[in-house]
Amino acid sequence: MLGGLWIGCSRSHVVPASPSLPQLLAPVPVGRLDSNVAVAPSLDSKPVPDEVRFQPAKPLREWKYVVLHHTASSTGSVESIHTAHLQNKDRNGKPWLGIGYHFVIGNGRGMPDGEIEPTFRWRQQMSGAHAGVGEYNQKGIGIVLVGNFEQAPPSPAQRQSVEQLVMYLCRTLKIDGPHIVGHGDIKATACPGQYFPLETLRSSVAAHDDSGGLPLARFVPATGISRKEALRK
Ligand SMILES: [Zn+2]
Repeated sequence: MLGGLWIGCSRSHVVPASPSLPQLLAPVPVGRLDSNVAVAPSLDSKPVPDEVRFQPAKPLREWKYVVLHHTASSTGSVESIHTAHLQNKDRNGKPWLGIGYHFVIGNGRGMPDGEIEPTFRWRQQMSGAHAGVGEYNQKGIGIVLVGNFEQAPPSPAQRQSVEQLVMYLCRTLKIDGPHIVGHGDIKATACPGQYFPLETLRSSVAAHDDSGGLPLARFVPATGISRKEALRK
């Protein structure tokens, strides 16, 4: 999965622009747990088990929204969020399967600054557990950035990564600007924080429509299915 991401690439740097993103986002077959697979360094939490992180490839589901969150904490990683979310229960009292988001973007404290890591929910194309609103859990891709953006904005590396990721997702899945939402747009919460640059993000995505910007071919996912095919499933 993250094979191409770390080769020749220092972890202290921002996640490079495409073509790494398609590799990052493509579902990964079970068993490809080679030495190239990056495991986010964790400060004090146990790594998420491989059987949770690496699941069979699934066709893309019909995503309609991108929902942005912050962790409201100064540190965090996929592993630490996963551990915390395992303690949560849904309204029926059933424990969550683990981390409720589809992507986590690190801030250098728990995960490298600007690192984008997909979770098992993306790998398995599962609904999320992040919005607190059924429609947005079912059809919204949950992206969380580590940090508390009520206090300060995301780091430059995080801003660059979230822009790349959201642009990729929007172009690939034909999600438009109004469907890029902050958690607070759909529920009474301060998340993702007053300093999260939501409007800038929406404008950037709008400015890179199909008439210009980054070449679409660089963002074609390696899933072997087209958008049309994905929507038929
Ligand atoms: Zn949130």
